Amino acid sequence: MNILCGNCGKNSGIVKSGSDGADAAHIEQLDGWNLRLPALVGIFEWYFACSNECMKELLARAYEKHGVTVEMRAEASAKLDKMKEKIPEMAKETAGFMSQVQDRLNLIRSGYAGVMPGTGMIVDCREHPEAVPMQKNTLLKVSEQKRTK
Ligand SMILES: [Zn+2]
Repeated sequence: MNILCGNCGKNSGIVKSGSDGADAAHIEQLDGWNLRLPALVGIFEWYFACSNECMKELLARAYEKHGVTVEMRAEASAKLDKMKEKIPEMAKETAGFMSQVQDRLNLIRSGYAGVMPGTGMIVDCREHPEAVPMQKNTLLKVSEQKRTK
């Protein structure tokens, strides 16, 4: 059976796979077709429509059927806006973390990395002579220790 527009019944030409996620991925590729999972208002069901107009009507009926009020939708939309606001902040934090990880990896591969006794922090032995030099490690691509005592 093919996926049909939930509003007008138009045939997408895509055979239902039995997995909503896979169906959603296929529908997303189709020109004009639209999909929604209105989870923010508590509806955990995929909706497929052939156009924005059909999606509007389809969702309006779904909201009515599930008792989703205008207030609930406004609240969900506000939640979504708040989440979107946080994305740049999260991206920055992630980028900062990834850059720290990359720095540590570069240090490890340089052969100057050592482990601080007590804290276990990976540091540069040239700056921290008390650190225990890391052993050569092919998995982490640790170079032969360059520091000489
Ligand atoms: Zn339609």
